[in-house]
Amino acid sequence: MLGAQIIDGKAIAADIRRELKAEINELRKQDIVPGLTVVLVGDDPASQTYVRSKQRACAEVGIRSEVKALAKDVSQAKLIALIEELNSDPEVNGILVQLPLPAHIDSDVVLRVIDPAKDVDGFHPVNVGSLWTGLAGQGFVPCTPSGIMELLHRTGIQPEGLNAVVIGRSNIVGKPMAGLLLQSNATVTICHSRTQGLEEHCRQADILVVAIGRARFIQRDWVKPGAVVIDVGMNRVDGVLCGDVDESVRQVAGYITPVPGGVGPMTIAQLLRNTVIAAQRTL
Ligand code: NAP
Repeated sequence: MLGAQIIDGKAIAADIRRELKAEINELRKQDIVPGLTVVLVGDDPASQTYVRSKQRACAEVGIRSEVKALAKDVSQAKLIALIEELNSDPEVNGILVQLPLPAHIDSDVVLRVIDPAKDVDGFHPVNVGSLWTGLAGQGFVPCTPSGIMELLHRTGIQPEGLNAVVIGRSNIVGKPMAGLLLQSNATVTICHSRTQGLEEHCRQADILVVAIGRARFIQRDWVKPGAVVIDVGMNRVDGVLCGDVDESVRQVAGYITPVPGGVGPMTIAQLLRNTVIAAQRTL
């Protein structure tokens, strides 16, 4: 057994950043510099790290980025007022509210305040609706699942007619992932913590997307030989980053994304892409 072909998300994300640089140069010729504003509430170290890496990625391709940092006890009303200000600022193409928000703030309410045309995370109900009505090209699609579709596409994997199983039903990963695979004509099953016979569902999958958040959960004998396995999980075990899929799955899968270096870099690349699209749409 040769083992799975590794889908190199780091390399594919680097290709996308190169392509975006060229598009940004074209926009600059028309005096447009794409701008992303990240709203960060509180001092959660993980959120701060994510925001820093988003800023670095923006700088590398030529996107203007700005962080609006608010104290962790900021009122929901103040946060909403800031977002409304950003909605009407023509210099701001993309607005991203870093999640999770502190417990006293209702993130559903806050996310609905973002202008859908600037919602580069794709979480606004208008954008969710566009995805599920087959109009994803007109709105914004969440970055992690759209990054996964890009990985499949650039690896030459066509979902049409295949059995796709998505484990996890979050608004950020699982649900939009299922929507995109359905739009690509896969036959889609969504599994979650109440699913019965999870292993059996997994074994039916030609494409298995795992977004659970439990380290090394998916085992080798749950996976159909030759299947495409996309590991979205990011778990820290004894300080080491690992996915939701056990290493042993590499022996049976046809393709697999590593953790780190698989889905993660694609998420940021798609955020950059959405920001560039938002800027292009102002033309
Ligand atoms: P989430 O909101 O916590 O959702 C987890 C999902 O997994 C839920 O739908 C849950 O089911 C399901 N689940 C939990 N235990 C299960 C079990 N034993 N069997 C079957 N399903 C189970 O997490 P998320 O935001 O989607 O993220 C999932 C993972 O992806 C995390 O590790 C996260 O860090 C990672 N992630 C990575 C990236 C990236 O860029 N690489 C981006 C986003 C997230 P219920 O709905 O029934 O509770």
